[in-house]
Amino acid sequence: MKLSKMLISTLRETPAEAEIVSHQLMLRAGMMRKMASGIYNYMPLGLRVMKKIEDIVREEMDKAGAQEFLASAILPSELWKESGRWEVFGPEMFKLKDRNEREFCLGPTHEEVFTDIARNEIKSYKQLPLNLYQIQTKYRDERRPRFGVMRSREFVMKDAYSFDKDYEGLDISYNKMYEAYHNIFKRCGLVCKCVEADSGAMGGSGSAEFMVKSEIGEDEIAFCTACEYAANVEKAPSTPEVLENEDIKELNKVTTPDVKTIDELIKFFKTTPKKFAKTLIYKADDKVVAVMVRGDREVNEVKVVNALGGAIDFEMADATTVKNATSAEVGFAGPIGIKVDVLFVDEEVANMYNFIIGANETGYHYENVNYGRDFEGKLGDFRKVVEGDKCPKCGKPMTVARGVEVGHIFKLGTKYSETMGANFLDEKGESKPLIMGCYGIGVNRTMATVIEQNHDENGIIWPLAIAPYQVIVIPAVTKDEEQVRVAEEIYNRLKGMGIEVLLDDRDERAGVKFKDADLIGIPMRITVGKKVKEGNVEFKLRNSSDIELISISEIFERVEKEFK
Ligand code: ATP
Ligand code: MG
Repeated sequence: MKLSKMLISTLRETPAEAEIVSHQLMLRAGMMRKMASGIYNYMPLGLRVMKKIEDIVREEMDKAGAQEFLASAILPSELWKESGRWEVFGPEMFKLKDRNEREFCLGPTHEEVFTDIARNEIKSYKQLPLNLYQIQTKYRDERRPRFGVMRSREFVMKDAYSFDKDYEGLDISYNKMYEAYHNIFKRCGLVCKCVEADSGAMGGSGSAEFMVKSEIGEDEIAFCTACEYAANVEKAPSTPEVLENEDIKELNKVTTPDVKTIDELIKFFKTTPKKFAKTLIYKADDKVVAVMVRGDREVNEVKVVNALGGAIDFEMADATTVKNATSAEVGFAGPIGIKVDVLFVDEEVANMYNFIIGANETGYHYENVNYGRDFEGKLGDFRKVVEGDKCPKCGKPMTVARGVEVGHIFKLGTKYSETMGANFLDEKGESKPLIMGCYGIGVNRTMATVIEQNHDENGIIWPLAIAPYQVIVIPAVTKDEEQVRVAEEIYNRLKGMGIEVLLDDRDERAGVKFKDADLIGIPMRITVGKKVKEGNVEFKLRNSSDIELISISEIFERVEKEFK
């Protein structure tokens, strides 16, 4: 492709709207343009990268034995009402009506559709296992679209759904996807970590996320410094800290006027946050739930929702609900005499001695509280793990870092097949629900994270496998006929070799051309300059500062070497 003919619109300035590097560079390099909040148009260069990622995904999915399929993006509400998710999805779902007032949505994901296909098409165990995938546009009215295509409202996802006759089969299907995902991200040039993920209250038997470590990530991952263990903090189990034995003291009510926050309490009681247990009150659908953790800990809301067996709406309770539950102003909640539907107590609290809690009475706290003697609740793991917590596998300390989720694999089990009646006849002629798995990769998000990991101050550094073009040929002086002729010859010969190559034949200064080549991130640059008189050209890799002087006849071999 000749740059003079191409719609290329690089920007020198960083657009103010873009907070993160990948977003800035995708705009500056003219990969995409914003149309509305969280909605983007792909320009020719950006589209080529997208297509390359899609091709890698397609190859690896085919290799793993999955079959490509394409479902509609516009989906009838009936399917979603059957699974119960028409309401559950909430405002994230784009809903619409047709001219006859029939309700539809723009598909945010396709479990229902594929379960419907399966119940219509799969009759017998002889058709199993089956894995269907598609590369298709999804719509989610995200509460906070941001970071460009990282979290957009329209995005391309590869989603796959596996169907097996039993759980052993599901394990095999799941492991195949696990391997395919590893290959896909590796081929895209991404370094990512596979972490254990939460599979929800009713969720299946296993789930893993492919995470790219990054400061801008909206997820937190906990991983062991000594062994392979890694998990989303939503999922990572915590181990209670064991404290030194103390003699049990007598329960004592203390007047604490205007002392409400943990900080104020620490000053008042002249002690550490480890001596307090806080009681947080939530609303989970129509239930009021209290959760106790040690004063310096954070509640892990996902663990709480799972312990409840799921909840559609889960949020901190409002002041009125707190007053009703505690008969006190906000800030004095405690477990003794609290009026809630469930009281969850983190195991660590049960191991504490002589601690301090709110007294459910404005202006009062209890000290020398002990679990079992003074109150009881449902014990469990309800806190978030933190840096330094023990690894559940080997006991060594864990680290916590931020990550971006690029892919997710999930054992669904019979969650959808049972609710939607997707059954098959087994070897004995008995009707059984299909055992399902689902597997997703965000194609646009993958593209953005590759940029997050591969860039410098001058622009994007595309890995060869997904670069929009592999080579750019630049005649340094457009007025120099020999330079232009040789550049064009090299360009044509590389094209003939099946290499994707750009010729920067624009009437611009060499400096401008170099800047653009760096910004759009083309892996190899061949410059035809003054030295062409001696039969030499310059070869430079985008990810290196070395410039190699190479004879025209040898330049083709040099390019080919990069593919090996
Ligand atoms: P997140 O927690 O980031 O919202 P999710 O759990 O909703 O992700 P899934 O439903 O598992 O995501 O979707 C599969 C993949 O689709 C994700 O791993 C991610 O790569 C991609 N994805 C999800 N939401 C978006 C979005 N709004 N914009 C771009 N990609 C997305
Ligand atoms: Mg989401």
